[in-house]
Amino acid sequence: MPKYDYLIVGAGLSGAVCAHELKKKGYNCLVVEKRGQVGGNIYTENIEGIEVHKYGAHIFHTSDKEVWNYVCRFAEFNNFVNSPIARYKDECYNLPFNMNTFTKLWRDVFTPAEAAKRIEEERGRDFKENPANLEEQAINLVGKTIYEKLIKGYTEKQWGRTCKDLPAHIIKRLPVRLTFDNNYFNDRYQGIPEEGYTKLIENMLNGTEVKLNCDFLKEKETLLKLAGKIIYTGPVDEYYGFCYGALEYRSLRFETEVLDTPDYQGNAVINYTAADVPFTRIIEHKHFAFGRQPKTVITREYPACWKFGDEPYYPVNDKKNGDLYAKYALLAKADKKVIFAGRLAAYKYYDMDDTVRAALDLLKEIPEKN
Ligand code: FAD
Ligand code: UDP
Repeated sequence: MPKYDYLIVGAGLSGAVCAHELKKKGYNCLVVEKRGQVGGNIYTENIEGIEVHKYGAHIFHTSDKEVWNYVCRFAEFNNFVNSPIARYKDECYNLPFNMNTFTKLWRDVFTPAEAAKRIEEERGRDFKENPANLEEQAINLVGKTIYEKLIKGYTEKQWGRTCKDLPAHIIKRLPVRLTFDNNYFNDRYQGIPEEGYTKLIENMLNGTEVKLNCDFLKEKETLLKLAGKIIYTGPVDEYYGFCYGALEYRSLRFETEVLDTPDYQGNAVINYTAADVPFTRIIEHKHFAFGRQPKTVITREYPACWKFGDEPYYPVNDKKNGDLYAKYALLAKADKKVIFAGRLAAYKYYDMDDTVRAALDLLKEIPEKN
């Protein structure tokens, strides 16, 4: 008899929700994690009393009430609302694109009707009935000036390609509003765990055995003998030894500094939208939690080409990678030995709420242990 009912590979949000739900159903689980800490990409580390988001800024936002109630069982969330600023050369604008942005940019615009008329004029003859790429979509949405100041440079840095070569859907994530509302998200619920995301994950994993610094793929032989079933939340191509080739990602490099000043930039997120600034944004972590510490911690986020072995951040949703993923998905579907879960197995950009939702749905299909 194996010692554990389930072996869960990965102690990120997906692995932690799976572990918690399986425990509730009476199963005995072992979680293995190749990093030296739990949390996956939502891991936060306390530096100078500030919760620092080590793998990129994470704001929890959702309209899924069940998911919101679920995460609130593991952490007290604060009332942070993401309202980033866009810095273009010596100008600052509110994001997402809303009346605060429009009135600052166009000094003769004061009302929603005037803003709508101005955007209409800005689109001019460039309006496309069926936008074929991100550039066309962006100009349709907000016109040429905003596209050139706040979108083109940022997007081309972020993705390492011209806007003409990027799919239109990337920009549809950003709201455009004719109201004075700087909330970056349209969701009903939003916030940041007051004690950090690592604590939230630790609370989910409470009572479950976790083995850190343990790479499943390197210790497969031994680990497989320990458990009856496996839930795998790592990269699907790696699980199958990259037999069809490696799925590509867009990567990021973070440069973090502790500064001896209480406030560096006055906001959690400032995007640098000009092409000649090499980073896309600066995060000042204390502002996610309304911190009043004497020092501050900032992180510059540099987009980076991904090469084999780098940290996978954003999946590249083009045809080549889509076709490649479809082949791995077929292998995964037919595999009776392992259940795949999470963003790396699905090769999808999952927000945290999508991640929790997917894991809860998966677990609903597993009956209670009798
Ligand atoms: P991961 O967090 O990647 O966890 C997988 C875990 O498995 C990792 O810890 C990894 O080390 C481990 N693992 C992999 N292979 C092995 C192996 N062989 N053996 C053992 N362990 C293994 N979402 C939001 O809702 N709001 C945001 O503001 C937001 N910001 C983001 C910013 C960035 C830069 C990125 C990239 C994502 C952001 N997200 C955000 C999405 C969020 O990060 C994901 O939804 C979430 O982290 C997915 O959790 P996961 O457990 O599926 O994957
Ligand atoms: N975007 C932009 N300018 C900005 C912020 C975002 O052009 O100041 C575009 C960019 O193409 C980006 C997309 O909007 O990829 C989605 O932005 P979001 O903030 O959702 O991306 P993420 O937080 O994942 O980087």
